[in-house]
Amino acid sequence: MKSMKADMITRNAVPLQTENWQKRQAEAVRDPAELLELLGLPRQLLPAAKQAAREFGLRVPREYLSRITPGDIHDPLLRQVLPLAEELYAQPGFGTDPVGDAAARAGAGILHKYHGRVLLITTGACGIHCRYCFRRHYPYQQDSLLGQQWQQTLSYLESNTDVEEVILSGGDPLSLSDDRLSRIISDLDAIPHLKRLRIHSRQPIVLPQRVTSALLARFEQIRMQAIMVVHVNHAREIDVEVSTALRHLNQAGCVLLNQSVLLAGVNDTVESLVDLSRRLFETGVMPYYLHQLDRVAGAAHFEVEDQHARSLMEGVRAQLPGYLVPRLVREHSGAANKLPLD
Ligand SMILES: *Cc1c(COP(=O)(O)O)cnc(C)c1O
Ligand code: SF4
Repeated sequence: MKSMKADMITRNAVPLQTENWQKRQAEAVRDPAELLELLGLPRQLLPAAKQAAREFGLRVPREYLSRITPGDIHDPLLRQVLPLAEELYAQPGFGTDPVGDAAARAGAGILHKYHGRVLLITTGACGIHCRYCFRRHYPYQQDSLLGQQWQQTLSYLESNTDVEEVILSGGDPLSLSDDRLSRIISDLDAIPHLKRLRIHSRQPIVLPQRVTSALLARFEQIRMQAIMVVHVNHAREIDVEVSTALRHLNQAGCVLLNQSVLLAGVNDTVESLVDLSRRLFETGVMPYYLHQLDRVAGAAHFEVEDQHARSLMEGVRAQLPGYLVPRLVREHSGAANKLPLD
């Protein structure tokens, strides 16, 4: 109750920060040595961090960094961004295209895998680099929505009249500018059979300043129903600024859902999953999916056994109302939907 009240007061008192998110994004920490220094972490971690960061660069917005407890090597937020030696060990069964994206490509930047929904790779860029990212090896250079390719994407959507929902994904679609995004939305809004626009984004969590008043105004004007699926793995990722940004999105008419990845050392306890669901609901977000890790090379150390995952879900169900229990799913290449595990 206390924290809800604090949030409400903040909502009224703190004006929405809108200026200069691009500058803040550019100022993200990319140098492993700087990360270790800012957080007071042992220098022995540096050689491995540097080597792992050559495969997939380090990237942490300073806003996110400020939520990490200095000196704590086990911090669940730190673990999501710190490159470790474990990433460098090859593991059988972990590959570069774990979810069959290559086979689902219906055109440049178009993934049409599931009935009625088309996912668009809008950009390869993200505001943060999560070490377990299932698209860390995705060939983005070939796939992004630019110029001519965008016209082809629109033609594809226009001619596939059974598509009801377009999902903007990436990378992170909210790493595009408001102008670019606004043009994409307008073009989609003009296709009558599209009923829903869904945006998969972690930006409101890692850089809440990204929720600008221009973006909110755009959502208020949209014909399609707008859904934002954010990506939070731990309750501590939602601080007061994030909570404010989420409330603004809600007020602008966005339905807010969350997807998480089940990650060893981050959220693989009943307590952590329960806290996360509670915190999400306090900020107007409904838990949607809890993903079993996609088996992407370099992320094996985050994997949680299926059996343990199921028993965690049992524990969560025993404590929370049904609507706060996310669906535990795994993505299989070639399947007609994400497969429930529990
Ligand atoms: C996850 C995903 C979707 C969305 O699936 P939902 O079950 O509707 O959330 C759509 N297309 C692709 C390619 C996906 O990976
Ligand atoms: S924000 Fe999403 S797409 Fe970007 S690195 Fe993290 S998991 Fe991957």
